Order: sequence, then C-alpha cells, then structure tokens
Amino acid sequence: MKVYISVDIEGITGVTDWNETELGHGEHIWAKEQMTKETIAACEGAMEAGATEIIVKDAHDSARNLDISKLPKGVQVIRGWASSPESMMAGIDESYDATIFVGYHSAAGEDGNPLAHTMNSSKATYIKINGELASEFWMNSLISAYYNVPVVFLSGDKMLCENSKKLVPNMEIVAVKTGIGDATFNMHPDLACESIKEGVIKGLKNKDKCQVETPKELKLEIGFRRHQDAKRASYYPGVKQISANAIEYMAKDIQDLMIARMFVL
Ligand SMILES: [Zn+2]
Repeated sequence: MKVYISVDIEGITGVTDWNETELGHGEHIWAKEQMTKETIAACEGAMEAGATEIIVKDAHDSARNLDISKLPKGVQVIRGWASSPESMMAGIDESYDATIFVGYHSAAGEDGNPLAHTMNSSKATYIKINGELASEFWMNSLISAYYNVPVVFLSGDKMLCENSKKLVPNMEIVAVKTGIGDATFNMHPDLACESIKEGVIKGLKNKDKCQVETPKELKLEIGFRRHQDAKRASYYPGVKQISANAIEYMAKDIQDLMIARMFVL
C-alpha cells in the first residue's frame, strides 16, 4: 500500500501566529518540531495499517520545515516546490492507494483559525469553487480524486475538519485545535499525535469508502486584495474579470483549474 501525506503548519496544534510559521524565525523552531511529530504519528499509523511506501510532501511556505532525520526510515520526503500545478500535492499520481492531510487550516474568508487563508494569502482575499469558499484541503482533495486516490484522513482546526467532513463523509478527522478570534484552544501535543496515529489507522482501514466526489463543473473565483492583480489575471486565456477585485474561470477539470491558479495568483 502506497500512501501520500501532505503536511501544512497552520493546522498543527499550538500554532497561532505567522511568526511561528516562518522558516528562520525563532518562534518557528518549536512549531516545526510539532509539525514533525504530527507527521511521524501519521507515518506510524500508516505503517501500522499496512503502508509499504510513504511519500510526505512538506507543503508549507518554504516547504523546508520538517526535520526529516526524525521521520521513520523508508519515508520519502518532498522538500521545496516542484513548480507544477499540483503544488502542495506534487508527485501524486494513480499509483497511490490513499491520501492523508496533516496540519491543514480553515479557508480564506472563514474565522476558524487566526491564520485562515487559501494559497497565496498576500494576494487573495478568498478563493471560491462553484460559489463556495474553497480551502486548500478541498482543492488538494480534488487533485487526489483526479488520480482516483481516496482521501482517508484530515487533521487541523475544528472548523476545517467539520466543513470538510461534508465533502468526504467517511474520512477520519482529528481537530487538534479551535480558533477563536486571534486565539487558538489547543489539544496537548502528545494527545494530538496519539489521536492522529489512531485516526490514520482507522481511515486507511476504511479507504474504499473514501473516494472524493468531483463536481461536473468547476468554476473558480478569486478575490484579490489589489484591483491591479485582478486586472492582470484577466489576461489569462478564459479568465473573466467580474468586479474590480475579482475574476472567474470555468475550468474543464481540477488540473486545468490549478494551472490557471498557478499563473493568475
Ligand atoms: Zn501553510
């Protein structure tokens, strides 16, 4: 069994402030350690459930957060960015049996995490798919579905976990924290790891029931902080500017949507 694990940092227990997410910042050190521990827990759960091959994508910002020397032997880690439309899902293909998300966070436009955002937070105020606020989890699950790989597990903030359960009803979720205003109410780091390990085991046992449904049409909408960026994006073939700060794009599939996203955002 071959398992893909995509790991972000804003949905790791304890992480509350942007300083903690930034490579090179003093406050990032403990956060990346906890990110590494939660990743180890997911890998251990996957191995216990029968995974023989595990690929981990370090999917936050620099993509150089995880301490790879601490991960179990046999786990491969993708560091840095592959300059491909899959972005946080680089390297995924039909050969995988399941996808796992660790440390994910609420979408731009939601208030479930002080660090809520979708993709490029400095440029976009929101991303919508078919009129609904889109989280990175949703976009990346659709990429997984494109390759027929079920999504079996998600950990992160409570709002993301609860909203995402509607998209993939049979996957396992572990909400390690609740975001309220600029605060987070966090699960103990060790308990978070234990819960993630258990959740991954359960999720993988249930993987045949965790296929992600892809909508027939994918309408991408992006709201930009700066109207200049919306104007610039409007020159991408097929993109329509729908207001001073927003554009729309009808994608033929998620691959097409992610390619457009790569160039306009
Ligand atoms: Zn991130």
